[in-house]
Amino acid sequence: MKNLSLFERAKKVIPGGVNSPVRAFGAVGGNPPFIKWGCGSKIYDEEGNEYIDLFMSWGPLILGHGRKEVIQKLTEAVLNGTSYGAPTELEILLAEEIIDSLPSIELIRFVNSGTEAVMSAVRLARAFTKRKFLVKFDGCYHGHSDSMLVSAGSGALTFGIPSSPGVPEEIAGLTIVLPYNSSEGVKELFSKRGEEIACVIVEPVAGNMGVVLPEKGFLETLRDETKKYGAILIFDEVITGFRISEGGAQGAFKISPDLTCLGKIIGGGLPVGAYGGKREIMEMVSPSGPVYQAGTLSGNPLAMTAGLETIRILKKEKLYDILEERTRKLAGAIGKILKEKGIPHWLNQIASMFTIFFTNEQVKDLTTAKKSDITLFKKFFHALLKRGIYLPPSQFEAIFLSTAHTDEDLEKIISAVEEAVKEI
Ligand code: PLP
Repeated sequence: MKNLSLFERAKKVIPGGVNSPVRAFGAVGGNPPFIKWGCGSKIYDEEGNEYIDLFMSWGPLILGHGRKEVIQKLTEAVLNGTSYGAPTELEILLAEEIIDSLPSIELIRFVNSGTEAVMSAVRLARAFTKRKFLVKFDGCYHGHSDSMLVSAGSGALTFGIPSSPGVPEEIAGLTIVLPYNSSEGVKELFSKRGEEIACVIVEPVAGNMGVVLPEKGFLETLRDETKKYGAILIFDEVITGFRISEGGAQGAFKISPDLTCLGKIIGGGLPVGAYGGKREIMEMVSPSGPVYQAGTLSGNPLAMTAGLETIRILKKEKLYDILEERTRKLAGAIGKILKEKGIPHWLNQIASMFTIFFTNEQVKDLTTAKKSDITLFKKFFHALLKRGIYLPPSQFEAIFLSTAHTDEDLEKIISAVEEAVKEI
């Protein structure tokens, strides 16, 4: 009952009881457990229940909860103070590590969230091109800045808010929305309005309508068309950066964007964001150039420390192949169980992220993602939660595996799925 009483208490002082909407279980029903602590692949709630965590703080915790080396570095760092508002060597070290892995980035600026990174990158693209319009794709989520709350994914999708009240029509009107994976749509738009478009922003692998992979030629088309018409190509790699590979999705798909937005993993579980790219563009950012952007806690020493240690471990231990193999094994086993039970499903997986959609149809964009049987997802979610497996509480999110998930965890998840499907 402690979880429930905390939720009731939270609702008295925090809108909906949560500080980010999807945490409230609105999409799956019921009440969220209140988490007391996490360790490795597990989280524990206030009532002492243990869960194998399959959303890992929505992506940042690729090394699991409380990875020893990260905690040790953080502990040392915190003893030196928590913020100075003055430059530190840590910021250079993290910038150098990122630039070393993502060659499209020549200069990088740290901020405090993915939302801030995207908002700043879009401002920069508009300033650089002296154009107003931006193109995004249906079901992609790029944080909650006004221009991006138009046909957004993630919580905005889960809650069925295509755009939020409070976003003036004049601002939403500058955002052009196209279906994900529609190369033809992109070509047609550019042929008509190419000279007006400041930038195209895309999740190179979408993670916010569930996982949706780019079809062959889609990212190439974005690169070609933006180049041809002098628009900026922004890859939002807030999820995929250091997740899909050390070089992110751009490394895996071998496409070099003009600007990249990062977050999540590069902060190792602390609040962070970053945007970076071609020197020529980034030099327009204040104080090198006229495009204003600032932040009291940007480049915060604790976030830099956690991010730096996380990236160093990822590089040193070369963990991506193992993670991918484990994820494929898990997703494959779940798929097999669903197939044996005759439950319609479609699995999209890449590296250590995947989504199970409850539809037979291939999921390649928002329209096909929405064909998933949400009622079945809700039942599946609760049947697993009851058995100590915590999926992201929405159909339209990605399941993330970490290096802390053991073979034993995978076996437990698979047996729980076997039991759960009998119930649903
Ligand atoms: N971009 C993508 C692709 C995301 O998935 C998210 C958050 O989930 C964001 C941007 C916004 O990041 P934040 O929640 O740190 O503001």
